[in-house]
Amino acid sequence: MIASMLRQLQLWDPGGIEQNWSVRQSARARRLSVRVFRNGGVEIVVPPRTSPHRVSAFVSEHREWIERQRQRAVPQVDWPLPPRELALSAVDEHWRCSVVSAPGRVRVRALDGSELQLKGPVRDREHTRQVILRWLIRHAAERFEAPLRELALLMGLKAGKLQIRCQRTRWGSCSRLGTISLNVCLLFQRPEVLRYLIIHELSHLRHMNHSARFWAEVARHEPDWKTLDRELQQGWRRVPTWVFR
Ligand SMILES: [Zn+2]
Repeated sequence: MIASMLRQLQLWDPGGIEQNWSVRQSARARRLSVRVFRNGGVEIVVPPRTSPHRVSAFVSEHREWIERQRQRAVPQVDWPLPPRELALSAVDEHWRCSVVSAPGRVRVRALDGSELQLKGPVRDREHTRQVILRWLIRHAAERFEAPLRELALLMGLKAGKLQIRCQRTRWGSCSRLGTISLNVCLLFQRPEVLRYLIIHELSHLRHMNHSARFWAEVARHEPDWKTLDRELQQGWRRVPTWVFR
């Protein structure tokens, strides 16, 4: 996505900021600004060499406004947890979730290609959430590997390691060493959107920026990139709320 290449700064000690807030330094930023994402994530964009003190002051000044925006952005409907189903559109899979109560820890098991069994004390919401999320991350790592390698081959590129992350503010990134990070929430997007994002991140292996040449490279492999990029910005709506809470 547009922001994926810019350096992520740790201007806060991790304990001092809420989990779904991030601070990003942007060479193009002239002043401090804030973005509130559909999933409730908050990103403070700051010009280079902004002091942590200024960021803190900016946040306390605007906190009330930010909280109001967040209330508005986060969907009010809560998806049930454990989920009744998992629609992983990106990889064309639809899982029915069944629950078997048992003592001990929650385990998750794919019984066949369509039933995901959760066995254990699923009433422990946070524990259940983490177990399913870990399964989704492993699953995405498996399923995204082939499209990544195929598209890299098609584009004449050599991609490094694939990494799956669960982040609130970005869909993917590409490191200078060629490691491609993809957000696990891409599983809930349409296959075309997943494909676009992989092409986007791979194109960064040629251009580590969002220059006109970068977008031309993307367009060579995905002429419809603009529409798909816009769809991705709205993609949080497709992600079950329990993924982040
Ligand atoms: Zn990018």
